[in-house]
Amino acid sequence: MFCPKCRTEYRKDFTTCADCEISLVEELPPAGEHKLSDKGFHPIRDQIDKTLEFIRKNQKVSWIFALLVGVIFILYMVMLKIYGH
Ligand SMILES: [Zn+2]
Repeated sequence: MFCPKCRTEYRKDFTTCADCEISLVEELPPAGEHKLSDKGFHPIRDQIDKTLEFIRKNQKVSWIFALLVGVIFILYMVMLKIYGH
């Protein structure tokens, strides 16, 4: 048995964590996800991480995303030229 919060391993006859006072689980959720939420909530950083992971998983989407960023950048430059002076 494991504590989902502090990830301490307990013997089978234990049902709650002595430190966190929460119910133990048979299996721990994936380590990465839990560690991230333990560090504190970073909405922007979390979103960037998720986006990067999404791009890594979907290579096809990555160039569309790059194209989109490029188009936005070009539009921004055009806007600067028109309204900048
Ligand atoms: Zn615990």
